[in-house]
Amino acid sequence: MSRTAKSIAEVVTSGLCIGCGLCEAVTKGRVKMEMTSYGGLRPAPADIFTPEEETQLLAACPGVIAKPRAEPDMETDDVWGAHSTMRYAWAGDPDLRFRAATGGVLSALGAHLLSSKKVNFVLHVMADADRPMRSHWVISDTPEQASIRAGSRYGPVAPLAGFIEALDRGEPFAIIAKPCDIGAVHAFAQTDARVDELCIMRMVMVCGGQSRLGKSQGLLKELGLAEEELSLFRYRGYGNPGLTTVETKDGRSFTKTYQEQWEDEGTWELETRCKLCPDALGEAADIAAADVWPGGGPTGEDEGFNGIIVRSSAGENLVKSAVEAGDLVLGEPITPRQFDDLQPHQVRKKEALSARFEGMTEAGLPIIDTPGLRLDQLGSRLDDDARTNQIEGTKRRIKEGRVSEPLPETKG
Ligand SMILES: Cc1cc2nc3c(=O)[nH]c(=O)nc-3n(C[C@H](O)[C@H](O)[C@H](O)COP(=O)(O)OP(=O)(O)OC[C@H]3O[C@@H](n4cnc5c(N)ncnc54)[C@H](O)[C@@H]3O)c2cc1C
Ligand code: SF4
Ligand code: SF4
Repeated sequence: MSRTAKSIAEVVTSGLCIGCGLCEAVTKGRVKMEMTSYGGLRPAPADIFTPEEETQLLAACPGVIAKPRAEPDMETDDVWGAHSTMRYAWAGDPDLRFRAATGGVLSALGAHLLSSKKVNFVLHVMADADRPMRSHWVISDTPEQASIRAGSRYGPVAPLAGFIEALDRGEPFAIIAKPCDIGAVHAFAQTDARVDELCIMRMVMVCGGQSRLGKSQGLLKELGLAEEELSLFRYRGYGNPGLTTVETKDGRSFTKTYQEQWEDEGTWELETRCKLCPDALGEAADIAAADVWPGGGPTGEDEGFNGIIVRSSAGENLVKSAVEAGDLVLGEPITPRQFDDLQPHQVRKKEALSARFEGMTEAGLPIIDTPGLRLDQLGSRLDDDARTNQIEGTKRRIKEGRVSEPLPETKG
């Protein structure tokens, strides 16, 4: 019989914490997101919540629950979920389009929300100025800040550590984060009425997974650099996909192509939660933005094109307003089956998930509750052999100790 985790400590020890940061926010910093020795951000200590805090967290934690925020009467696709628009898009500002992760859609929309005064600030993330291989949450109050903080951070980051501080401002705001983070925001709205009142625009990137810090540390090792020497660590951008770029305080610069850095999926050091992610396509968001390389990966550089998935009337209004202001440019429509070809890894994962959850359950571990995410329908596409492989593969990884985690050590 499947079940969800009974405590946040069990979320962590079962490998289901993605380090979203909500634990730190809800406890107002009494529990902190700490980098563990295995390279993930985890709440520490994970076992000192009050009963009220723990109840509220368990109702929203992405390691416990993931559900869409569908508006009625939307077109729905089993893989891609509810949507009103799917099409190519990119930032109207060529400089932003060049600097951003892909085509700059998320930053362009964040900046537009600020310049048109639809929100007072945007909660998102940026590289740490002192330790640029690491990232943290940030509040952008101006369009310029939202724009300059463009770029994908592939390592651990906890955007929701800033969520209560954002709510406490009592002003309308937008959030840009990963689908798991936005899923937590949506679920958290059930216990905090301020969420739906104030967090009026939720935008995500379609997400292939968060690498543990070891992936970035591996690059430094390869280059013979120490973290203290760094002045810049950029995963991509300045082109699409652009180069992974590392610079040092004494002026040296090192680059790798996206393909060199990411071609071997076995070296990505993905979080366990990502291998079990029931919604990497952002079904709780107003707008999701994706890469759109045919076949799922780049073969060279291009000018920067996103695929956008608009999932709410508020999202539609934002796109319309941004296009009218010249902040966003729209291209051709994309059908769900064309999107399958642009994101084949996402389709494969969606189809495998119900079997992976079965493996977790057979091994006695909790799973994520996924009402409305259609995992059983998608799972029925697997033939018997493929299903058995997924179940047995999950059980083998659990047995080999590749799923469970120790509780994070706390700093004395
Ligand atoms: C971990 C990760 C995995 C990804 N995997 C895929 C994938 O499999 N398929 C795919 O199509 N696209 C993937 N992307 C998304 C892709 O890299 C782009 O982010 C997306 O196409 C949006 O591009 P953009 O130019 O509009 O973003 P930009 O305009 O550059 O804006 C990016 C925004 O996202 C915020 N942000 C960056 N990193 C993070 C983070 N780790 N957590 C929370 N917020 C963040 C920034 O603060 C900024 O506001 C991934 C992104 C990340 C961070
Ligand atoms: S995923 Fe977020 S809410 Fe869940 S345990 Fe981790 S930090 Fe806390
Ligand atoms: S794959 Fe899923 S769990 Fe992992 S970072 Fe992306 S949205 Fe979060």
